Amino acid sequence: MIRDHFRVLVVNLRSGKGQIVRLDGRNTEAGGSGLAALLFNKYGHVDRLWNDPEQPVIFAIGPLTGYFPLMSKTVCSFKSPYHDQYTESHAGGRSALSLCFANLDALVIVGKSERLCSLTVSSRSLDIQDVSFMKGMSVDETGKLLRGMSPGSGHRTIMRIGPAGENGVAMANINVDTYRHFGRLGGGAALGAKNLKGIIIYGDAVFPQPESKEYPKLFTEVYRQITATDMMKKYHNLGTPANLQGLNDIESLPWRNLQATSDPAIEQINGERFATDNLLRNSACSGCPVGCIHVGYVREMFDANHRYTFKQVAYDYEMIFSLGTMLGVTSTRSVLNILDEMEKAGLDAMSGGVALAWATEATEKEHISEKETEVKLSFGDAKAYQQATVLLGNGSNHFYRLLGQGSLKAAAEYGGADFACVLGQEMAGYATGEVFFAAQSLGFRHSHLDSGGYSYDQKHSDQDVAGVIDFLIKDEAGRAFMTSMVSCLFARGVYKDALLADCLNSVGYPELAATIDTAGAHIQKIRWQTRIATGFSPENITIPKRFFKIKTWKGPIDPLYLNTLKSEYGKAIIKLAGVTTL
Ligand code: SF4
Repeated sequence: MIRDHFRVLVVNLRSGKGQIVRLDGRNTEAGGSGLAALLFNKYGHVDRLWNDPEQPVIFAIGPLTGYFPLMSKTVCSFKSPYHDQYTESHAGGRSALSLCFANLDALVIVGKSERLCSLTVSSRSLDIQDVSFMKGMSVDETGKLLRGMSPGSGHRTIMRIGPAGENGVAMANINVDTYRHFGRLGGGAALGAKNLKGIIIYGDAVFPQPESKEYPKLFTEVYRQITATDMMKKYHNLGTPANLQGLNDIESLPWRNLQATSDPAIEQINGERFATDNLLRNSACSGCPVGCIHVGYVREMFDANHRYTFKQVAYDYEMIFSLGTMLGVTSTRSVLNILDEMEKAGLDAMSGGVALAWATEATEKEHISEKETEVKLSFGDAKAYQQATVLLGNGSNHFYRLLGQGSLKAAAEYGGADFACVLGQEMAGYATGEVFFAAQSLGFRHSHLDSGGYSYDQKHSDQDVAGVIDFLIKDEAGRAFMTSMVSCLFARGVYKDALLADCLNSVGYPELAATIDTAGAHIQKIRWQTRIATGFSPENITIPKRFFKIKTWKGPIDPLYLNTLKSEYGKAIIKLAGVTTL
């Protein structure tokens, strides 16, 4: 599928019809993030609500997908139910390779089905089925049924939503092939608003290998760097949970709704403990020889006489933070049990965990009570969090419906905004300092991966505002190009610009290879322009007081430095977009 244009399938769920569209932009928007922004500008409506039936949900891949290792992500873009602004979420699994072998650079879904439906596409076909009988079904039940309905194991991706997505919860994710997710900012609700329960993409086409002599040599070298050096070893060994102990040691790991940044109890739920006590196997996205996905198991006695059932649950650094340390839960098995409930509901475990942490402190401070939460929430009570997860996913009462829209929405009614751990959305697990707090607050996805702010904090104790802003803006531009290639960001140490240029040249994209810098800056700009057109304004984002009260290895947070960083970063974003805010 090497071509000088984009081949896009646009499906309208209202009419049940699809259309192949050819779009220019390969040398400017490149793919992934850039292509998603290009498509939103063509099919999206900046002035209509996120759940307007005509808003698109977009899935886009890049020019190197299928040709090089770890080019394995898909960019999903949509207008977010969390803040009604344009956003992106990224996931791997088999999604990217399936789109590639379905002969598509992107899939755009518009319109709303009259009934709950599933959409199946391949390189030659499109089918929409009524799945009303799946209403309210969990993600795993839905997955089992969709797998049974669709042959082609190993060549197709199955995306689906759970009750949270159907209920419009702004923390609802889209599950991809069981162990991966379009997690943050409510992609699940964006599909739910279209009455779309599942998407199956068959990669059933065949393509010739690139003809250049450089390609096989380069592939071998990239593969060697990824597998035979230490660069990716940590992801394969303990996986991202390896970071828990280190961040705890430098007082940068949020505990109990960020009331502390370190706790000796980390030894009970660090990466080593999970690997020793719960790791069942490693898994990988298609096209990835690293295999960072760590699948743990928990068993449960369901009847007398030691009758057990067991569950496989994939864990990660972020989930252990949000459902472990943030909730004061210090048993590996309990973390996996809460995570399992989040998975079944189709809730983003990070947002859900951080929101429940706020609800727990709000209970302690008597802003809310069991009248609202229905179960008594207290730090460390894993069983209560399992029950609360079900209530949150189902939007079972007014309180949970509000909390599902974000902790600050609930705090606006019940009080407690000061201790809501929200940085644009519920925080990621890096209480590293001022740079990260400003970076996540204003970052494009409000993610720790929008830029390396968390890493900057760990290496710099000086206060160089201009240097930080320069770093954040440049780092984001580089990442915008990486996510337009749809590279897994874990491979950013391998895929430097020179290597990316060689890869693009070897498969026949010399013009893009020669303009990586300008393409990255261009994509960064159009993403922000699109975001700003849908209502983003740095002044509207506040950093709650809790973030000003903590201590890291650098000492107490400096409020003046944090406020200055936020203000200057906001100005820099507006300047690079070349627009005025609303
Ligand atoms: S390193 Fe992990 S997340 Fe990245 S592509 Fe490989 S398995 Fe997927």
